[in-house]
Amino acid sequence: MAALYSALEAGRVGIFESPTGTGKSLSLICGALSWLRDFEEKKRQEEARLLALEDSGQERGERPAAAEPGHPGSGGAAGEPDWVTAFVQKKEERDAVDRLKRSEEDETKRLLQLSKDVISEGDGVDVLEQLDHNEEELVLAEYESDDEKKVISGLEDDDDLEEEHVTKIYYCSRTHSQLSQFVREVQKSPFGKDTRLVSLGSRQNLCVNEEVRRLGALQLINDRCMEMQKNKHEKKSDEKMEGKRRHASHAICPFYSYEQMQFLCDEVLVEVKDIEQLVALGRETKACPYYGSRYAIPAAQLVVLPYQMLLHEPTRSAAGIKLKDQVVIIDEAHNLIDTITCIHSAEVSGSQLCCAHSQLSQYMERYRKRLKAKNLMYIKQILYLLEQFVAMLGGNVNQNPGCQAVSQTGTVLKSINDFLFQSQIDNINLFKVRRYCEKSLISRKLFGFVERYGGPATTVKTNKENQKLAGFQNFLLTLKQGSDKEGNPPVEAENDQLRTASPLMQIEGFLSALTNANQDGRVIVNRQGTVGQSSLKFLLLNPAVYFAKVVEECRAVIIAGGTMQPVSDFREQLLSCAGVDPARVVEFSCGHVIPPENILPIILCSGPSNQQLEFTYQTRDLPQMMDETGRILCNLCNVVPGGVVCFFPSYEYEKQVYAHWEKTGLLTRLATKKKIFQEPKKANQVEQVLVEYAKCIKRCSQAGGQMTGALLLSVVGGKMSEGINFSDDLGRCVIMVGMPYPNIKSPELQEKMTWLDKTMPRAAGQAPSRVLIENLCMKAVNQSIGRAIRHQKDFASILLLDHRYARPAIFNKLPQWIRERTQVKPAFGSAFAELRKVRMCILCTATKTVSHYTHLYFFQTFALE
Ligand code: SF4
Repeated sequence: MAALYSALEAGRVGIFESPTGTGKSLSLICGALSWLRDFEEKKRQEEARLLALEDSGQERGERPAAAEPGHPGSGGAAGEPDWVTAFVQKKEERDAVDRLKRSEEDETKRLLQLSKDVISEGDGVDVLEQLDHNEEELVLAEYESDDEKKVISGLEDDDDLEEEHVTKIYYCSRTHSQLSQFVREVQKSPFGKDTRLVSLGSRQNLCVNEEVRRLGALQLINDRCMEMQKNKHEKKSDEKMEGKRRHASHAICPFYSYEQMQFLCDEVLVEVKDIEQLVALGRETKACPYYGSRYAIPAAQLVVLPYQMLLHEPTRSAAGIKLKDQVVIIDEAHNLIDTITCIHSAEVSGSQLCCAHSQLSQYMERYRKRLKAKNLMYIKQILYLLEQFVAMLGGNVNQNPGCQAVSQTGTVLKSINDFLFQSQIDNINLFKVRRYCEKSLISRKLFGFVERYGGPATTVKTNKENQKLAGFQNFLLTLKQGSDKEGNPPVEAENDQLRTASPLMQIEGFLSALTNANQDGRVIVNRQGTVGQSSLKFLLLNPAVYFAKVVEECRAVIIAGGTMQPVSDFREQLLSCAGVDPARVVEFSCGHVIPPENILPIILCSGPSNQQLEFTYQTRDLPQMMDETGRILCNLCNVVPGGVVCFFPSYEYEKQVYAHWEKTGLLTRLATKKKIFQEPKKANQVEQVLVEYAKCIKRCSQAGGQMTGALLLSVVGGKMSEGINFSDDLGRCVIMVGMPYPNIKSPELQEKMTWLDKTMPRAAGQAPSRVLIENLCMKAVNQSIGRAIRHQKDFASILLLDHRYARPAIFNKLPQWIRERTQVKPAFGSAFAELRKVRMCILCTATKTVSHYTHLYFFQTFALE
């Protein structure tokens, strides 16, 4: 807390590490809010001093009687007279009300502008009359670029409309459940009663209109909500237009009411509420919590939000988040670099490109006479881009992508400029096209059009790779919807049809990515099988460009997590590349709260038959290596009670070793001591496997007998290495088989390595690419082994099977609290003796007769004998 306080006070960028179970959240809350409280107090005092100064220069006769020295009512919190405090407060309240009203008017104007239908003259009149009333909403509104608007109206951006935000802390974490947990901690903390906190979330989490909520899929909810808002604003203007009928589908949301949302906003600021409580309040007050909570941002002291919402600039500004001079705390930040890279990378398949081309051509044909020249020009440009992209994949947009075989298969990486030249689109201003897509909401209109007329052209299947990426791409879809941006964590797509029907949304993401600076990214042209299966992917190499704005604007930024080691990636790739002065960066790492004897980390260099443990790609498949691993596991399962979790570097290797053990009979031997579970490949089976695993351990501990628990064969970076706790009996021993280095043959990784070697200096004689590979490996190891100790009274042993862990460069990348207790054991015998001691200790603590430490000492002696 003290370190955090001084980092915020000094305006630093901090990398903070505090292992799970050490009270990280509470320390962040108390440290940050203490700082904010003191900061506000100092500011109040300063304001009061200035007011008093100003006042003393004016005529004293104007001062109210209550403020006369010696009057009983004088003397506020900071020693200033009550009337000054009351005046300041009243003025702030009045200003806040004015600001909120202005914001509502602004929103109305903006939506009116966006939804303005073109009432055509001349040529288009006949067609207009033929269109179904509902269909009018599918036609693009007249489009003017921002430059043109400025010329026409003579207006520049109106700075007067900027809302004033009080100094606040933006706290971000990865998932909604982590955020809810944080809010509950705030409620319990000493700051719970008097902190103005607001939780932000997606419509999927916050919408209270049951009809809309029932749609289920995020994208459908977003679309329906936006449509209803548009109707609301149209209603206002329609009322002035005589003779215009409103159709039944032009419903408006009863919860989107300024007065009700303002009431909800006030309530939110009075008492700390998590998302569930916010939704309940919305239902009760008949106000939309999604928009109501955004109204509360300017006055809030603590804003809690998912971190995608903060890291993606368009999402940030759409939500009304202003970072200037504010404090940002990013929790669970161990994957921050990957997250920024993912949010700003984009992939489109040949199928999607062809499908979008087909949809957009049909759209243009149907509404050609209704569309203004500007719209037609941009649609033609987008169609041309799609044609050229498909040509880059070796195909033709007018033929079925599933039937066009690709002649030259393979993966090629190109710089952005090369890609633009080779695809002959370098004459098109992609910034303008991107802006057009955002402002005109063309993909939304096209989606509505496809929903209505969706035929065979919309059912082109996405390729296998895209299906794997569905979660992330679905998230991307939510980011590409003009002003309708969300900060949701990735969610599984619920409706394949939906995804395949909206390819243009995804393509917008790709077009936008192409506007990055040439040196900051690459385009991967991946030609496989057919044009439909091939893809174009934008790979962001320099995530710092997107983080730079956050660190530049904020007063202080804290990147926090349970396991932040190795931190050099954050320092070099993120902060240094973002132009942060190294003197502004502070690092803080605290140890664990467990007693030293509760953890036994061992680096094991060889197995029971003296086979050296080195799991390189060349040696790990050797039968003797797999046999030796099996022998180690057998020995451990004999002495370790409860659950043993064994991590393998990949699914393939785990499968291979399992098959080998099955053949040699080792699995049968293991099964006499532990019931064996394997990590499932499907995410929806994880829960079930874990429940069974936990049940088995409990059953064994209660029943006694030969079977002492369960063994879980898991995969590093798989579904069980993050977010799942192996606390207490669920993980008394965690084993890491080999070193999970990433696949350096992957073209993407190779490009990143080349880029790093070109742009970054060598660190301690090591090439930056080498450092990256080691860091990726050790981050994965640390995340996996960190699952075992989850609270103060927990205990476990950790076995790292590979002599290479003892190399200083690797060893130093273990978290400090593990590193300082790690023993390197060249032979299995001495390691096994240590593990037996822990076992004795466990048996002894179970009886709870004497202190843990005394018994440890006693049984150490006993074991040695
Ligand atoms: S305005 Fe709010 S309550 Fe109404 S549909 Fe939109 S998100 Fe739901």
